[in-house]
Amino acid sequence: MKEKILQKFGEVFGDTTGARTYFAPGRVNLIGEHTDYNGGHVFPCALTIGTYGVARQRADRKLRFYSMNFEHLGVIESSLDGLKPEKEADWTNYPKGVMWAFEKRGFEIPYGMDLLLFGNIPNGSGLSSSASVEVLTGFILRDMFGFDVTNQDLALIGQYSENNFNGVNCGIMDQFAIAMGKKDHAIFLDTADLSFEYAPIHLEGAKIVIACSNKKRGLGDSKYNERRSECETALAEIQEVVGINSLGDLTEEQFEQYKSAIKDDVRTKRAKHAVYENQRTIKAVAALKANDIAQFGQLMNASHVSLRDDYEVTGIELDTLVEEAWKVDGVIGSRMTGAGFGGCTVSIVKTEAIDGFIEKVGAEYLKKIGYAADFYVVEIGDGPSLI
Ligand code: ADP
Ligand code: MG
Repeated sequence: MKEKILQKFGEVFGDTTGARTYFAPGRVNLIGEHTDYNGGHVFPCALTIGTYGVARQRADRKLRFYSMNFEHLGVIESSLDGLKPEKEADWTNYPKGVMWAFEKRGFEIPYGMDLLLFGNIPNGSGLSSSASVEVLTGFILRDMFGFDVTNQDLALIGQYSENNFNGVNCGIMDQFAIAMGKKDHAIFLDTADLSFEYAPIHLEGAKIVIACSNKKRGLGDSKYNERRSECETALAEIQEVVGINSLGDLTEEQFEQYKSAIKDDVRTKRAKHAVYENQRTIKAVAALKANDIAQFGQLMNASHVSLRDDYEVTGIELDTLVEEAWKVDGVIGSRMTGAGFGGCTVSIVKTEAIDGFIEKVGAEYLKKIGYAADFYVVEIGDGPSLI
C-alpha cells in the first residue's frame, strides 16, 4: 500500500522528496449505540482498514489536497489563511476543519502541505471514514510541526472540528475509538467523563463480520438530531424529579421508577433505549471478561431489537441484514452499528460459518432490497501511525 500511495503522490505532486506516509483506522462499535451523547458507555474498536495518507510540508501557506477516492475532483487547492468551510472544497473541509481546530486551540500552523489520501473503508457507511480522516490529519500535523497534543487530544480536536466546522453533531465515540485504538482490544469508554478501559477481544474460533447495506443516505442526519433532542427533553423532564446529569446515570430500575415524569410515549421509548443500552453495554463487557461470548452475542441481539423498536433508527435494510443473520447457524450475535437509517451491521460469526453467512444473508438481502450488500471480515487494529 505504501508504494502505491507514494507513487500516486509523486504523479500528482511532482515528486516524493520529503513525503511521509501515515495510516489512521476506521472503527466499528460492538455495542452501546446512541449512548455517547447520553452520558453512557460505548464499546468500539479500531479496524485494520482505514485511511492512508501521504503528506509533505510546503515552504508557503498553500494547501493542496488529492484523494484517490475522489479522483474526479482532481487537486483541490486552498490556503491556511482564512480557513472556513466551503461547499466547493468538498471533502477537503474535513482536513481543513482539523487545521482550523488546531488554530482555535492556540497552535499556529506555520506552513501549508501537500496531502494525498486513500481510504479502504467505505465512505458514508458508518465505519467513520470522516473521523478517520480527521484523526489522520491531526496526527500528520503533530508529526510535521511537533505540536504537543496527546492522542486523546487528537480525538477531541477531531470531534470539535466535525461539530463546528463541518456542522455534524457527532459524539466523541468515533474519534476516540480511532485515536486510541489498540490491536485486538475494544475500548470500554464512559462518555460522561472519558474514563476508559481496554478489553481484550478473544473470539476463539469466530470473527467480526461487517455488512454494509449500501443504502443511500436519506433522512439520517435530521433523524439523528431529532433523537438527540428527544433524549435531551426526556432528561430535562426526569431532572424535575431526580438530580441526574445524564440518562447514563440511571439503572433500569431507576428508569422504571422515574419514567412517568416523561410526558410523551415516544420520548419515553427513546429514553428507555438510552438507559437500557448503556446497562447492556456494561453487562456485555462483563460477559466478555467472563469469557461468555454467547451472552455477549445475546446482548448484541437485544441491542438491535431496542434500536429497532424503541429508538426506531434501523429501517428495512438493516433489519433484513440482522434478521437474516440471526437465522444462520454459527452467528453468535448481530446488530446494526453506527447511527442507523442505513450504514452497516456488525456480527460475530464462527469462522467456519462465515462463507455461508455471506452467501445466505447476501442473497436474501439482494432478493428483498433489490441491490447488494458488501461484506467485510475485519480485524481489530491499532490507532494512527507513521507507516
Ligand atoms: P462515515 O464517517 O460514516 O464514513 P461521513 O458522511 O461522516 O460517513 O463521512 C464521509 C465523508 O468523509 C466523505 O464524503 C468525504 O467527504 C470524507 N472522506 C472520508 N474518507 C475520505 C477519503 N479517503 N478521501 C477523501 N475524503 C474522505
Ligand atoms: Mg462520519
